[in-house]
Amino acid sequence: MQPTPYIDIHTHRRSNDPYVIDAYAVGSDGSLPAGPYSAGIHPWEVQRITPDNTSRYRQDLLDALTPRCIAVGEIGLDYAVTGDSVLRTAQRHWFEQQMELAADRSLPVIIHCVRAYNDLIPILRHYPHVTPVIHGFTGSPELAERLLQAGGYLSFGHRTAASPKTRQALAAVPVDRVFFETDESPLPIAATYATAAAITGKTVAEWKETVYDNYRRLFKTP
Ligand SMILES: [Zn+2]
Repeated sequence: MQPTPYIDIHTHRRSNDPYVIDAYAVGSDGSLPAGPYSAGIHPWEVQRITPDNTSRYRQDLLDALTPRCIAVGEIGLDYAVTGDSVLRTAQRHWFEQQMELAADRSLPVIIHCVRAYNDLIPILRHYPHVTPVIHGFTGSPELAERLLQAGGYLSFGHRTAASPKTRQALAAVPVDRVFFETDESPLPIAATYATAAAITGKTVAEWKETVYDNYRRLFKTP
């Protein structure tokens, strides 16, 4: 029997590994990843969209939805990058458009959210058939519970260990709603599994089985 692989739900380092989802940023990344990936217009990218280039963004997004694209993302809201209400409205517009697209294509979404959960959660609830994975989750058990209630999975990364409330959240979340990721971290994915094992009292082997099952359940891998 093959050993159960580590699943990495989100990275910006091209991996070409069938168990790693590369994040392809429409508008700022060059060629499509060779392995499974997510594709979407990041909330940071929204400020570069103008009336002149809107149709190109739309087309690039559609072109990125090849069979290797197993999720729409990362998409979402980031209110830390702008206090400007016009730009925040534009972020919500593009987020909703991409939720719509995910619903059309029956794909889950990988969510980036910073200081915007009060606006994000009602939008998630508006799309009950689109499963969101909150990437790089940090926050309290209460916030985690609100996201679970909205149908979300939570993905924990290298910032988990340093945040006491995030450690509490990880310990409290049902294991069938958990993923792990490397994102921008130079540390290997195994390090995040080891951290999670230490926090939760489960073994790395148990986490590998659980997250593999979650991966197989949620993503239609090519
Ligand atoms: Zn990312």
